[in-house]
Amino acid sequence: MDLVDFIRARLDEDERIARDADGISRDTLLDLYEDLIQSRPLDGQRRLFGIFIGRFTSGRMLADIQAKRRLVDWHTDQHDLLASARPTVGCRCYDGWPCTTLRLLALPYASHHEYRTEWRP
Ligand SMILES: [Zn+2]
Repeated sequence: MDLVDFIRARLDEDERIARDADGISRDTLLDLYEDLIQSRPLDGQRRLFGIFIGRFTSGRMLADIQAKRRLVDWHTDQHDLLASARPTVGCRCYDGWPCTTLRLLALPYASHHEYRTEWRP
């Protein structure tokens, strides 16, 4: 598995999780939120966590995943175009293959068992 395959596999996993969460009904989410409020007041860290989960919804995750996929495609396409003319040159980033952008996209998954230390930027 190369770095691009690795990133795409992680994004596929993230998408599955986001889509599963997207299937939770609004009523269920409201019930969960109601339980949270009634169990204890939303103060301090509980309030911060509520703001956090409100911001990073499944829709936000899916948009983020789509943007990352476009970045991977863009850098991979550039790499392929240049590779056909100059086989040892990476993408338009001109810093070798895989480029720093792809290495950075993989970095959040560095704890995954398939992540290779040589991909670290
Ligand atoms: Zn690049």
